[in-house]
Amino acid sequence: MLLFVANWKMNKTRAEARAYAADLGARIGEKIPGHELVLAPAFTALDAARDPGERWSLACQNVSAESSGAFTGEVSARMAAEAGCRYAIIGHSERRRLFGEDGPMLSRKLQRCREAGLTPIYCLGETDDEREAGLTSATLVRQVETLEKDPKNSSLVVAYEPVWAIGTGKAATPEDAASARVHLAELLSARPNLRILYGGSVTPENAAALLDESGMDGFLIGGASLSVAAFESIARA
Ligand code: PEP
Repeated sequence: MLLFVANWKMNKTRAEARAYAADLGARIGEKIPGHELVLAPAFTALDAARDPGERWSLACQNVSAESSGAFTGEVSARMAAEAGCRYAIIGHSERRRLFGEDGPMLSRKLQRCREAGLTPIYCLGETDDEREAGLTSATLVRQVETLEKDPKNSSLVVAYEPVWAIGTGKAATPEDAASARVHLAELLSARPNLRILYGGSVTPENAAALLDESGMDGFLIGGASLSVAAFESIARA
């Protein structure tokens, strides 16, 4: 099943999410066979983005590393699951870079997801400097180590998102994405329930080639997913 995840980041109010969901529902009609769609709105818009017909499911963009307690401003994995999420995006490069989330913290977030029954969409990928220094492969190895304690038989989504491709308009080539996919599949070969996504400047124009030629199981889409027409067109690529 191909998987298309719309990461709205800190965009869309509840009213905007409701309008998007109505438009998406009208456009797709019945469920698209062989395709799974996921919307990842802000916590405040989760219920507004929900589809009563279950043609798409919901993800949150982050969870706390803690289970509950005196952590002002945090949202727990259990709360996100109860609010209707099936998935949680963990380790997005913006969280790593802007909020200092490192391997040990992400490992705890992954544990909280499992306790709550959320499937993690674990993001990884090299920066421009790491790529220039020939460290792409070593970076992926290090970031995969964060999954060490995560139960091997549980369903896992890994999103390969080279940091230099996120929000830059400079997507990876299908060849680069394919080689990252092969490498990640090898590193995670002990996991029977694994899907590997590509993310980074996916658009309706580059989606078909990226999907066909990389062997990826779908996309994590940021900027382009804010337009319902673009998201639908990518999902139909
Ligand atoms: C993302 O932030 O996960 C992402 C892939 O963004 P964009 O599609 O805008 O590059």
